[in-house]
Amino acid sequence: MSLKENPDPAVCPVCAGHHFQSLFRCTDHFVSGRSFPLCRCLQCGFIYTGSAPSEELSSTFYQSEKYISHSNTSEGIINLVYHSVREIMLGQKRKIVAKHAGMPRGTLLDVGAGTGYFLNHMRSKGWEVTGTEKSDTAREFAMKQNGLALLPGEALFSLPAESFDVITLWHVMEHLYDLDEHWKGVKRLLKPGGCLVIALPNHTSSDALHYGEFWAAWDVPRHLWHFSPSSLEHLARKEDFRLVKIHRMPFDPFYVSMLSEKYRKSRFPVLKGLFFGKISWFRALFDPRKCSSLIYILKRQ
Ligand SMILES: [Zn+2]
Repeated sequence: MSLKENPDPAVCPVCAGHHFQSLFRCTDHFVSGRSFPLCRCLQCGFIYTGSAPSEELSSTFYQSEKYISHSNTSEGIINLVYHSVREIMLGQKRKIVAKHAGMPRGTLLDVGAGTGYFLNHMRSKGWEVTGTEKSDTAREFAMKQNGLALLPGEALFSLPAESFDVITLWHVMEHLYDLDEHWKGVKRLLKPGGCLVIALPNHTSSDALHYGEFWAAWDVPRHLWHFSPSSLEHLARKEDFRLVKIHRMPFDPFYVSMLSEKYRKSRFPVLKGLFFGKISWFRALFDPRKCSSLIYILKRQ
């Protein structure tokens, strides 16, 4: 598959609409310090990051020791919280996967497996696991740290059809240059009645509305696409999937709020982030669609 030169979509990936409006510009606080416009589809409200780098150049925007999903540093209190929470979340993710798959163990593909912590956990509980990962560094780390041989990203398109009970994408879809090909790819690989699990940030969450351009989960230009529950549901239906359940990721309001406070240069980012995170968490208790990050459970039609 050739690398995408210009990720700006000609038409909206969700509704095929042609008209977009510019919302506001967001800064890349992690790596480059550059700003990028967010563009919203006038027909369905889907948002994408405008003028994002070509796929070939994209790796330069991941070269930061601070990009913790691909590293294992425990420096700084926010990172420390992230790593502790990850351990708790591994168990939660396994329970969600097993419940919706309707089986205690089975065949699992994790797309964008990163450093392999989730797959390693699932393998230890008896799941037969396969993972793909685009980054060479992350794949090497997965082997060294977790003894997992992950496949390169493009292997997704050559694996045997209908071979998985469950396919997971944990905070991966928002990074994909070839969104449409991936939807078709996972549909081909799932067994009939198989379960697709997608975790995504939610720009209609309480903390996204509160922090505006400083909301940490815009994470431009690494996040190319910005989903709301309604846009994800719309896209899933178009690709012949049925949305069966939405779960909150209960720790994300705290993590995202602390990082957002840091981005807007608050004097006490941890305290303020925890305070607003608690408000956002509380609101999401009553309405899960207000949570920072959501786990969508989809079934192949
Ligand atoms: Zn649209």
